[in-house]
Amino acid sequence: MDRRNFIKSGLLTAAAGAMAGPKAVAQQAERQVTQEDLSKDILNYNPNMPYRPMGRTGVKVSALGFGMLRLPMKDGHVDFDQTTPMVRRAIEGGVNYIDTGRVYMGGESEQAVRKALAGGWRDRVYVTSKSPWWEMQSADDFEKLFDQSRRTIDTDVIDFYHIHMIMHRGWKEKVLPYKLIEKMEKLKAQGKIRFMGFSFHDSLQLFKQIIEYTPAWDFCLIQHNYLDYEYEAGVLGPKYAAANGMGLAVMKPVRTGFLAHLPQSMKDALTSTGVQKPDPEWALDYLWDIPEVSVAVSGMGSMSDVEENLKYAAKAKPNMLTPAEREALGAAIYAFRNTPGHIDCTGCYQCIPCPHNVAIGYIFAYVYNNYLVHKDMKRALSDYTVAMSPVQRGDPASSCVGCGACLPKCPQHLDIPNLLAKVKETMGK
Ligand code: SF4
Ligand code: SF4
Repeated sequence: MDRRNFIKSGLLTAAAGAMAGPKAVAQQAERQVTQEDLSKDILNYNPNMPYRPMGRTGVKVSALGFGMLRLPMKDGHVDFDQTTPMVRRAIEGGVNYIDTGRVYMGGESEQAVRKALAGGWRDRVYVTSKSPWWEMQSADDFEKLFDQSRRTIDTDVIDFYHIHMIMHRGWKEKVLPYKLIEKMEKLKAQGKIRFMGFSFHDSLQLFKQIIEYTPAWDFCLIQHNYLDYEYEAGVLGPKYAAANGMGLAVMKPVRTGFLAHLPQSMKDALTSTGVQKPDPEWALDYLWDIPEVSVAVSGMGSMSDVEENLKYAAKAKPNMLTPAEREALGAAIYAFRNTPGHIDCTGCYQCIPCPHNVAIGYIFAYVYNNYLVHKDMKRALSDYTVAMSPVQRGDPASSCVGCGACLPKCPQHLDIPNLLAKVKETMGK
């Protein structure tokens, strides 16, 4: 028998066992059984990817999810030729969670999912999509949009289906009156979706209200990162979701690129305790450290993003941060908040709804404070106008009439109307 066949026959293992003793053999056998069990229990199992329970669904999802929202572009459209190999490389690396939405990338994200998962790749992953309430003119539109998503993705079943971007207006004006939750339950009973959930952009108070509305929720998707630990559902959101048995996906781990390209003051703070790692790795490690986080959904725009993220994910585990790393993150937050002119808004959203629909917290915490650090007006205006629409997040600072209704609601005691006037002066609207 030559060396290759000797290895294949398993005799090498037995020989090694004979040399190492019976205890090592037992350990080896245990390792093999565990590995086999894992590949049976976990979709697309890869030993280099950690998997985490998605709440009470019984499903284990990869610590890294592929967010189909920052795909490479060509001539104003998604570059499908570049996207497909990226998605497949991520799947080969063990990713089993593909996150898309009906409205992502002008509707082309779901198409990108279909193309990337053609030819058998669909069976290796969980596919999500999202129902955009703001596109519904009547309750019947829910089913129509759902069927469009299924057709576009070319799948009979959407594994994780969300009501997209619930915030106070959507909750009151569409989700409740159109009975969208009951409609999701019906889809689940019919086997057209496997799990039902929602993505969220509003205050912790509304987050709790939505979760308490029904025990039918299986999971949710929130925005969270180390800089905005009080923003929207904040640091308590994951605890609350987990306490109610829900799986938790987290989007925007690098805060729409901000935490992937840090200002020097924050870089210096992060290295102050002697730990060196790339900016995006800090952001992802922060999320993976949180035991309640099931999957960090990262938007990936190039093959190198995929490769880097796979590398970072390989070591992901709950409570992974060292005391020095925690201290470094604290120092980075402190540096951000000490930028001259910084508005001490935590983005908690307790001041909304404003009677004039001003997106107060988003404007302060997400647009203006970022601008102060980078001084990049083009980017700030893009955040201000593209990512914010009247029907979703709200209106710009110029819509403030100074009525003062928001003032008693702000736990930071901010002079909101005057600060909005300052934003308007700087940003021109
Ligand atoms: S002061 Fe401005 S931001 Fe505050 S509630 Fe009134 S209109 Fe809205
Ligand atoms: S202005 Fe005050 S209430 Fe509104 S989001 Fe900021 S900190 Fe919260």
